[in-house]
Amino acid sequence: MSLWLSGIGVSRGIAIGRVQRLHGDLEIPEYRVQPAELDAEVARFHDALQRARDELRQIRAQIPGLFGGGGASGEIAAFIDTHLLMLDDRSLTEAVTALIRDSQCNAELALKRQRDALTAVFEQMEDPYLRSRKDDVQQVSARVMRILLKQEKGQPATRVEHAEPPVIVADDVTPADIILLSQHKAAAFVTEYGGPLSHTAILARSFGIPTVVGLHGARRLLREGELAIIDGELGHVLADPDARALSFFQGKRERQQSDRAALSQLRDQPAVSRDGVKIRLLANIEMSEDADQAAELGAEGVGLYRTEFLFMNRRDLPGEQEQYQAYARVVAAVKGPITIRTLDLGADKQVDSGSRQGPTPNNPALGLRAIRLCLKEPDLFRTQVRALLRASAHGDVHIMLPMISNVQEFRQAQQIIAAAREQLLAEGQPMAADVPVGAMIEVPAAALAAPLLARYARFFSIGTNDLIQYTLAIDRVDEEVNYLYDPLHPAVLRLIRMTIEAGEQAGVPVAMCGEMAGDPRYTRLLLGLGLTEFSMHPASVLEVKRIIIESNVARLRQRAQRLLAAASVSELQSLIAEFGHN
Ligand code: PEP
Ligand code: MG
Repeated sequence: MSLWLSGIGVSRGIAIGRVQRLHGDLEIPEYRVQPAELDAEVARFHDALQRARDELRQIRAQIPGLFGGGGASGEIAAFIDTHLLMLDDRSLTEAVTALIRDSQCNAELALKRQRDALTAVFEQMEDPYLRSRKDDVQQVSARVMRILLKQEKGQPATRVEHAEPPVIVADDVTPADIILLSQHKAAAFVTEYGGPLSHTAILARSFGIPTVVGLHGARRLLREGELAIIDGELGHVLADPDARALSFFQGKRERQQSDRAALSQLRDQPAVSRDGVKIRLLANIEMSEDADQAAELGAEGVGLYRTEFLFMNRRDLPGEQEQYQAYARVVAAVKGPITIRTLDLGADKQVDSGSRQGPTPNNPALGLRAIRLCLKEPDLFRTQVRALLRASAHGDVHIMLPMISNVQEFRQAQQIIAAAREQLLAEGQPMAADVPVGAMIEVPAAALAAPLLARYARFFSIGTNDLIQYTLAIDRVDEEVNYLYDPLHPAVLRLIRMTIEAGEQAGVPVAMCGEMAGDPRYTRLLLGLGLTEFSMHPASVLEVKRIIIESNVARLRQRAQRLLAAASVSELQSLIAEFGHN
């Protein structure tokens, strides 16, 4: 009998294959260890850590051969390095050792307790990227646990038992597992845990493997060897489909495959609408390797480089020279302009080495984060700004300030940047003659005050992820209120239009770098609202480009005007539906 299941679709595409389940549930034994045996138990734990390191190093060594040193290989190597770092981290090594000794318990139980404690810490983080780091903690712990339990002798469970590419069903899939599974050409991944920002999701997207995550109970509900259809866009899994369903999805898969092949033809074509409006398509990146992928997929530059990555998974802060080298590498790798965002860390997602102490505030999203934190800790900000200005010697760098909520904040940051420039000049450091400084518009106050901000900002970039959260008063990481997260809410659309209009009137370019910009469902609507610069995950660039090329912007603009003036919900809905067509 067919069974429909629903999770979160994080990597688009249709896959059809037989289910192969990975890793059974790990039964974790709990027992007391006699004082005389404690040294041996600690040694057993350290031995497991070492074996886990050896495994990961072996996998890492295979990467260049597997990917030919392309963009994905750097990303995957970075994931594995993160796991290697975790295996050396005191919060794992020393904490578990201390737990074994203090609680006189077995290594598995101590590891489980420490994993749960670390997971709880990450879960409380407001930033979805940092929150998703709990997946790393769980994956690294699972690897060590499997070794301790002598299950699969610590090997990532990668034997593929069916001749056709299988649908891999697992609690979670580690980046290392994905590398090995990719050799066997997995058709799809279905996991019980993880979210759209998890490493599994990021990797699956970069491999183009349809993936559904967060499907609780998947391993119980899907039977080994049964046929399953995965819709990685809608997050659906259909097990044991009947003949009609099968032929429907086979047709859908074929259409998608030929669409994709057609899309690659657009790579070198300019993004110009049917009525001649030139649109700039830029990429959001987090690492230098992403820059290569961005250019390969037709992006004209980088509209958002998130710098937080450099500050993660470490105890100390990166100094000016280290930051300069990292930024310079990315700037040199990017073809075209690059907009680098200054640190967007917050009170709850303070790096280990942060100087701020004290209790976590009740509303971290409204607290000391992003530019607020940088202005409170000018040394942190100045160090980054100096590194960014020095990196500007290598390309067309723009500096973008996140979470700006008033003009004073922007001015204050601008002054710090100007002072840093003076100082660098006096030191004789090379720099670009002009490094434009712009504001992210992601707080409703900034959108409303955009005409005032436009007097000082050289560009705007609309961060819809936060703009929607703050406008609709819904925590973007709170599952309870997720259903209210609506990019099409009239208030959001009006704020977007107001920002674009303020930019048009002041001659300040306006881009959008939130997820909405890379979602093809909203491309026409955004064109209608007057957006001319879109920054998105590189993998979305060609699809958005195709829609632009097929659009008549003048007509979409008229439609958007009617939309903004709509008086009733039904009128609004029918106008929004119209945006589904050219
Ligand atoms: C945004 O808020 O839309 C954005 C691009 O920034 P982040 O998702 O990093 O908060
Ligand atoms: Mg943001």
